[in-house]
Amino acid sequence: MSLAIETLSVFPGLFEPYMSTSIMGRARDRGLVSFSAHDLRDWTHDRHRTVDDAPFGGGQGMLMKPGPVFEALDDLTCGGERPAHVVFFSPCGHPYDEAAAARLSRESRIILVCGRYEGMDERVYSLADEVVSLGDYVLTGGELAALVVADSVVRLIPGALGDDMSAADESFSDGLLEYAQYTRPSVYDGMRVPDVLLSGDHAAVAAWRRASAIERTALWRPDLLGQADLSAEERERVRALVEDSNGPRGE
Ligand code: SAM
Repeated sequence: MSLAIETLSVFPGLFEPYMSTSIMGRARDRGLVSFSAHDLRDWTHDRHRTVDDAPFGGGQGMLMKPGPVFEALDDLTCGGERPAHVVFFSPCGHPYDEAAAARLSRESRIILVCGRYEGMDERVYSLADEVVSLGDYVLTGGELAALVVADSVVRLIPGALGDDMSAADESFSDGLLEYAQYTRPSVYDGMRVPDVLLSGDHAAVAAWRRASAIERTALWRPDLLGQADLSAEERERVRALVEDSNGPRGE
């Protein structure tokens, strides 16, 4: 069964160009995923199609009212033939990562609810199966967050990338960053590609890539190493790398 991804927002027109381009578009054409963008204003009842109001207690800006969000999700979740997994976005949510993308890629229907303005009336979060943050910064709206989630989920659906191995080989798939990669020319401006990659020796290439992934992770994202599956020898290599990178410089 294909995955149904739906968005609920006040800017439904923002999604289609991205979702119909490149890998997203091809996944839709192949029937692996369907995509629909709902306009939250369709669940308003006044002439101005109002979705926001001033916060109780004062303060700057406007908040998204609970009514349209409750009515929309009531219609969308009761009417569908598949149960929906409902995701809200907020800088206060739990951090989004590859494990969350993998989990969402196994759902059959996801509704991504996008905030705007100063955020949403707190009561709407009672409708959420999860509240997701993209990181410790503030976006003007949840639409970019929804596209990030949709993109990261679709590329994990078997067949979406064309080559099923490519997602399994990438950063975070095994708890490490991806190894360094090179393409032609083999020497550029005096910088040489490591000889082993030109050797045709597949075992040596695999060993070099494993070492490169560990080295990059140790230097750029040491926080990931605690969860990574490393041998005792690899842990020792990491310890040496971290020691070297913290050691005295320029002496
Ligand atoms: N006042 C809120 C706060 O300080 O936590 C920020 C609201 S933000 C301007 C408006 C909307 O953008 C949010 O409701 C959410 O949908 C989205 N958004 C902003 N930053 C985000 C982030 N880091 N991760 C996920 N969504 C975010």
